[in-house]
Amino acid sequence: MLIVMNHKAGERQVEAVVRAVEKMGLRAVPIPGSERTAIGVLGNRGYVDDSTIRDLPGVQEVIHVSKPYKLVSRDFHPRPTVVKVCGIPVGEGKRPVVVAGPCAVESEEQILRTARAVKKSGADMLRGGAFKPRTGPHTFQGLREEGLKLLAMAREETGLPIVTEVMSPDTVGLVAGYADLLQVGARNMQNFELLKELGRIRKPVLLKRGMSATIEEFLAAAEYILAEGNHQVILCERGIRTFETATRNTLDLAVVPLIRELSHLPVMIDPSHATGKRSLVSPMAKASLVAGAHGVLVEVHPEPDKALSDGPQSLTLPGFEALMEELRRLSAFLGHGGAGENAP
Ligand code: PEP
Ligand code: MN
Repeated sequence: MLIVMNHKAGERQVEAVVRAVEKMGLRAVPIPGSERTAIGVLGNRGYVDDSTIRDLPGVQEVIHVSKPYKLVSRDFHPRPTVVKVCGIPVGEGKRPVVVAGPCAVESEEQILRTARAVKKSGADMLRGGAFKPRTGPHTFQGLREEGLKLLAMAREETGLPIVTEVMSPDTVGLVAGYADLLQVGARNMQNFELLKELGRIRKPVLLKRGMSATIEEFLAAAEYILAEGNHQVILCERGIRTFETATRNTLDLAVVPLIRELSHLPVMIDPSHATGKRSLVSPMAKASLVAGAHGVLVEVHPEPDKALSDGPQSLTLPGFEALMEELRRLSAFLGHGGAGENAP
């Protein structure tokens, strides 16, 4: 429920409404606006009888919000959220960020070589999976803590913040001890216990859209993290399952402007998992920026043919360098001040 105060309502009237809401056993969150204040009501399970609120002085309108997400919505929080990862801002009004690195951390040599190269090309952050959610149990499952240590080593050398996946609630503490941005993969978007645990930490979270998740389910998943107190969430579209098999997934690019209408959270695109095909990654990364994405997440491998996972969609090091050059030019054209400005 959203209570809209009239533009003449003063602080006292807002306070009286807040008290009335709390008396009903609910939480009230005042949302000051440039013209009027609104008050978000949280904690209700189902319809709330608004008869005691409607007629209070200063109340203009009571809107019943039936969406399963509130804290995530623009209605409750009109101003955009800018998430900071080690001081790097991600969100509206900021230049788009580029997160690059291999699907999985495979060895010290592989991650350090990639980290040095992507840093030189201007990436903002380094990605690499240490805990890998693989479709079958007989494939490479990741180096686990050893992989996290190698990522930390790469950060130490390059200064790039690290982004890595966490798969279970019991490893949140371990992963948060190393990662600067914790990724929830598509397969875990509705692992509610994991989301709740991530809501209790003080590090930013990159939440990927589930492969068959609707936008409403995606935003409701983010709501779990915010509802526990962690508001530092970046959403990431990574393609959805459709009838089409020519690409690994179908990139739903329209979610970028749509999410920006519905939510205040930043939104990124992962063109690598969205397409599954190296030649399509660059065009879709550029399209992401044109659509208004706040960043892209790109898989890069020094020897994609030898990669233990996702080689066919990984850019080579020179391929990534070329992409960054194109993104820089596109970004300047779009007036962002330049993706990849991090280039030394
Ligand atoms: C990944 O980023 O390597 C990954 C497994 O992505 P997704 O969860 O989107 O499939
Ligand atoms: Mn991958």
